[in-house]
Amino acid sequence: SSDEEGGEEYLFKIVIIGDSAVGKSNLLSRYARNEFNAHSKATIGVEFQTQSMEIEGKDVKAQIWDTAGQERFRAVTSAYYRGAVGALVVYDISRRSTFESVARWLDELKTHSDTTVARMLVGNKCDLDNMRAVSVEEGKALAETQGLFFMETSALNSTNVKTAFEMVIRDIYANFS
Ligand code: GDP
Ligand code: MG
Repeated sequence: SSDEEGGEEYLFKIVIIGDSAVGKSNLLSRYARNEFNAHSKATIGVEFQTQSMEIEGKDVKAQIWDTAGQERFRAVTSAYYRGAVGALVVYDISRRSTFESVARWLDELKTHSDTTVARMLVGNKCDLDNMRAVSVEEGKALAETQGLFFMETSALNSTNVKTAFEMVIRDIYANFS
């Protein structure tokens, strides 16, 4: 909370998980800085970025964590998940193996979380529709089975990026305010 009248503040930790190269870092840079990097390798270099939005007149800050490429070695640590109240679980619609990994990421998230986590399944790179290897219906079905929100996004052309993050933030707010 703050000293401004009615000016309560919230800070929520959100993690982005999913296989290497699905676009996690670019989703974050698109959302937080409106930037896209076509040549990003493993790391953009920061641990997290903070982005604010207003909900019901409250200043709600999301501290969004990005892996530094550890997922390549299956070495995302418990510190990464600690305190997270939201998660984006990302796959690449043009690479089926990344969709098949989603169950493992959900297990890992569950193992490391001790609270309600607002979760969104994200099928990224929807601009690559001509290379699609996972249908929208399959994404939706998996999300429904697991009780997650679902959205296809493109960090490249910005489709649904803001919407996806903001849906998670609103759900966290509903859980914790
Ligand atoms: P990360 O390893 O999951 O963090 O993935 P990156 O954000 O580093 O992206 C991996 C590669 O996919 C990079 O070459 C990006 O430019 C590319 N990429 C990320 N998002 C998109 C997208 O929405 N569409 C397309 N076509 N390429 C993307
Ligand atoms: Mg990355």
